[in-house]
Amino acid sequence: MNERVYNFSAGPSMLPLSALERAGSEITNYRGSGMSVMEMSHRSKVFQQIFDETQEKLRRLMNVPDGYKILFLQTGASGQFSMIPLNLMGPNGKADYAVTGNFASIAAKEAAKYGTVNIAADTSDRNHSYIPTQEQLKLSPDASYFYYCANNTIYGTEWQYVPETGSVPLVCDMSSDILSRPVDVSKFGIVYAGAQKNMAPAGLTVVIIREDLAGHELPYTPLMMNYKTMIDKDSMYNTPPCWCIYMLGLTLDWVAEQGGVEGMEKLRTLRSSMLYDTLDNSRLFHCHAEKGSRSGMNVTFRTGNEELDAKFVQEAAAAGFTNLKGHRKTGGMRASIYNAMPVEGVEKLCDFIKAFDKNN
Ligand SMILES: *Cc1c(COP(=O)(O)O)cnc(C)c1O
Repeated sequence: MNERVYNFSAGPSMLPLSALERAGSEITNYRGSGMSVMEMSHRSKVFQQIFDETQEKLRRLMNVPDGYKILFLQTGASGQFSMIPLNLMGPNGKADYAVTGNFASIAAKEAAKYGTVNIAADTSDRNHSYIPTQEQLKLSPDASYFYYCANNTIYGTEWQYVPETGSVPLVCDMSSDILSRPVDVSKFGIVYAGAQKNMAPAGLTVVIIREDLAGHELPYTPLMMNYKTMIDKDSMYNTPPCWCIYMLGLTLDWVAEQGGVEGMEKLRTLRSSMLYDTLDNSRLFHCHAEKGSRSGMNVTFRTGNEELDAKFVQEAAAAGFTNLKGHRKTGGMRASIYNAMPVEGVEKLCDFIKAFDKNN
């Protein structure tokens, strides 16, 4: 295959073409340094500048207030499932978790090793096809924090509101929708995301943390899982994921050129409304997520006939739309339409869906 495909993978997923091309042009000699970013000391001046600029770009784009630290960590989004309770469970030994999908469920199970987990909501009764309302959340006023996952990558649901929890800090997994819409960071204790969906190659986890939440870790917290270690050393206690940080910087340049997170939100609305309209108006296809809970990033759908689903996935791949097979937990199809998916890719996918709907 000589042309780039429209890659609907849930992650790792598409990156902006301009970021890839820029990285390509700098791959052997980064701006006169005589070496690739992959080959540089993380303690060098030239890398420190990449690091500082990337942090600054993210702070500007997400409007991160003073008193919050941006960390560039490793161990994936999944590493945060342990790091969060290890560091935050402390004071009251108790946390609230909204279980709206696979990753929130794993996070809640992991947290239960370190304290008492109160399940504030559980949407498994309808196979995680919806998001609970504020009134449905069973909140504990003395919880150390409230945890939720903003966008459920596998099920294709997304919170359309930020939960109100009084003085209990909000902790949010934004792995699959970060930078796709404006977020008021000041409402959160921690926002975090694995980079491989909307930001950079796999290997980087971005954590934005209110600084006063660090320093209360459980006594047996591993050195590398301690937010304080990473805050004190500005994410450079050890070698950070240098290449991924550089790629994040290039992606953020592209986001800024598109009008920042507001620009991203416009594009996301265009892409997702087009796709949901096409599916809603089809004869064959049904969406997994209930209206009002639908994700702007991961669109899950099926025909109800497994053979027909398989035929759709196969014919779509042959037509240049790859990775549309759904996760085994939902079956059917999933189109992940993250920031870097061109609107044109979704337009063409909609045409393909309409033709398939007519011919089958
Ligand atoms: C992909 C994903 C994860 C897991 O990310 P890893 O970096 O593979 O650990 C966690 N949460 C959400 C919402 C995701 O989409």
